[in-house]
Amino acid sequence: MNAVGVDVGGTKIAAGVVSPEGELLNEVRYPTANMRERLLSSIATAIAEVSKGYDVGGVCLAVPGFILSGANKVLSAANLDAIEGVPLGEELGDRTGLPVVVENDANAAAWGEFRFGAGRGVDHLLFITLGTGVGSGVISHGTLLRGARGTGGELGHVTVQATGPRCGCGNRGCLEALASGSAIRRQAREMAKERPESALGRLGAAREVLGEDVLRLAREGDEAALHVLREAGTWLGIGLAGFVNVFDPEVIAVGGGVSEAGDLILEPARRELQLRSSSPSRGLVEVRESTLGPKSGILGAAALARSANKEYVLET
Ligand SMILES: [Zn+2]
Repeated sequence: MNAVGVDVGGTKIAAGVVSPEGELLNEVRYPTANMRERLLSSIATAIAEVSKGYDVGGVCLAVPGFILSGANKVLSAANLDAIEGVPLGEELGDRTGLPVVVENDANAAAWGEFRFGAGRGVDHLLFITLGTGVGSGVISHGTLLRGARGTGGELGHVTVQATGPRCGCGNRGCLEALASGSAIRRQAREMAKERPESALGRLGAAREVLGEDVLRLAREGDEAALHVLREAGTWLGIGLAGFVNVFDPEVIAVGGGVSEAGDLILEPARRELQLRSSSPSRGLVEVRESTLGPKSGILGAAALARSANKEYVLET
């Protein structure tokens, strides 16, 4: 039977009906409201609207932040504090008449890549999404690692540089503080001041440097912009080397907006991974770009939806 995956973001709610083969059959979008009742009712409306005319066996919401997946609750989520602590399984289950579960958005995207994308055919996958922050999901022996409360697998907040820059989580030197889109922007602004004669420096003197500027200038061969991406890739590789030692994955799929830089980020990451990983799998693990793009959240969430008897809907 089909399932509904809902990507609940800080600015929009995207709900999709997904077939057992991973085909997105229908999709609707609503803006995210910031009042509890209005937000719950837009999610419920999105689910009802998108599933009209389709056989649907269950729903999974993919939400950024710390999620207690066992309790189907959001512990904390930036821009979504209106639904923090709400028992979403019951609240939305009652309104939609469907079984509703909740997962972390990066875990859902990881599951999407595992079932339908870059990780199809493997049993051990790490998924890293490099966006404004760094999200991740760990799949080991074909099972999504959640930990005791459902907040496990947060590789973006593993410390890779003890005295590094402050991270949004309060810690210093997290992978997120060194390899995310925000980290690249910060580095690019510093580099623009350091090398005013470079294309990046000239742009930085004229206006604020954005992530896409760094990528464009790097592709045009500007050494300062290339340096910024190499540095982010190097930090990514330092993180990955540790993760490879712990999880021994077959594939590491890298997604998110920053992954558009492709090998400009991934080559230094692969090099660092080879240098630092002590696992025999360093020679075997493949670092790939993810293939589903922004749809991985909806597809993965749908694949994590469970029916009333707790079985995965798309598995049946
Ligand atoms: Zn952090």
